[in-house]
Amino acid sequence: MYLYNSLTRKKEEFIPRYEGRVSMYTCGPTVYHYAHIGNLRSYIMEDVLEKYLRFTGLDVKRVMNITDVGHLTSDGDTGDDKMLKGAAREHKTVMEIARFYTDAFFADCRKLNIKIPDVVEPATSCIDEFIRVISVLMDKGYAYEAGGNIYFDTSKLDRYYVFNDFKEEDLAVGVREGVEEDSNKRNKADFVLWFTKSKFDSQELKWESPWGLGYPGWHIECSCISMKNLGEYLDIHCGGIDNAFPHHTNEIAQSEAYLGHEWCNYWFHVHHLNTNSGKMSKSKGEFLTVSLLEEKGYNPLVYRFFCLQSHYRKSLVFSWENLDNAAAAFNKLIEKIAPLTADKSGDIDTAEFDRLREQFCKALGNDLNTSLAVTAVYDVLKSKSNSATKLALLSEFDKVLGLDLIPTAEKLLAESESAKPEIPDEVLALVEERKAARKDKNFALADEIRDKIAALGYEVRETRQGTEINKIQ
Ligand code: AMP
Ligand code: ZN
Repeated sequence: MYLYNSLTRKKEEFIPRYEGRVSMYTCGPTVYHYAHIGNLRSYIMEDVLEKYLRFTGLDVKRVMNITDVGHLTSDGDTGDDKMLKGAAREHKTVMEIARFYTDAFFADCRKLNIKIPDVVEPATSCIDEFIRVISVLMDKGYAYEAGGNIYFDTSKLDRYYVFNDFKEEDLAVGVREGVEEDSNKRNKADFVLWFTKSKFDSQELKWESPWGLGYPGWHIECSCISMKNLGEYLDIHCGGIDNAFPHHTNEIAQSEAYLGHEWCNYWFHVHHLNTNSGKMSKSKGEFLTVSLLEEKGYNPLVYRFFCLQSHYRKSLVFSWENLDNAAAAFNKLIEKIAPLTADKSGDIDTAEFDRLREQFCKALGNDLNTSLAVTAVYDVLKSKSNSATKLALLSEFDKVLGLDLIPTAEKLLAESESAKPEIPDEVLALVEERKAARKDKNFALADEIRDKIAALGYEVRETRQGTEINKIQ
């Protein structure tokens, strides 16, 4: 498979360090509120990536964190702790908020057919690990104490800005939000590993550490949770594009300083879902959640389909009109699949199966081109092969696409069957007689029976899907 690697800024062949096995890490949600559908775009595309890697026969171990402490409203070290904000908003404790929104996140994932990663770890369950890694960074001289907090010293690195060419002067962390800059930092880009003294006196969760009672910074959690579960070499790290800087940049800095060697080979970044008025936000405008889509009558999988129709490296504009278009296309697709599910008999045409499967793999193998993978679904429907072959292909593709194509089509067929009026036994008996006459090539008799059926008020037609009987209106 070829993937665009943000680290090298090139499309490269994806080769895991250990043959046949992939270690994959995904930045998880900050559980202070519901995920918006922008967040979920990232999780959908990461899910497709994981499923495609498995589809090609690789054994993937995927790990995700749950941020339940330390993520400030700015991705630098300024602003408020998001969890504290959530707790204050709802008059609950931080842990109550964390539990509630973690469950809500997984409920959204289930509705969108996003597989839960093999390991999911909340930051608050790994505090000892953070303290251990920070201690090593202190011992190695990569971290320093100032004003009670522990900072990572970015000046100790040969290259800090791995994803972009920011200059220190361009870094406006804090200043932009009108928050005072942290005067404890030796260099503007330095970031907090452990807070003891901070403006958050109300911080509910604090732990003992060699540097005093405090709590971890956000960036250290992903490095530690990844290394703890996936070892000292990571094949691929995923997240939304906004995480590239400073979050992932800081993860690389501290992980490589700790390990003493390169850490992660491939970085997969999903571009943003925007609204017509710009970046999607939980506080401005309509708060777009999966529940809101459902309330408005959309099947959540229509949103998944909408995401698959465009490439993960392009920003995507959400509007209700765009979603309606996706819903119409999805429903049409299901309508085309429904009649195929009525008859699953027949042998699979292996040559045609292999040809179309190859086309599907070619699309996804080229930097996860999901819109071309969706085109491959339409090509299955256009194929001259039998229903069995088409259904086998659709079920194969759906292992990656996760659109529930066949179950949804079966449901539609069952609904349309039950909506059909009951056909009288007399008509059904005549239809059987007519079938026998046609089999004997006695077409005169078949026509005679058709007229008798018409006289009873029914019309009989042979279609590619079999015999159709309808009441004459
Ligand atoms: P958070 O819960 O804020 O930590 O974000 C969870 C994930 O969603 C991260 O990978 C973010 O990079 C990603 N993300 C945030 N906003 C968007 C957006 N508008 N579109 C796509 N992904 C996003
Ligand atoms: Zn992370």
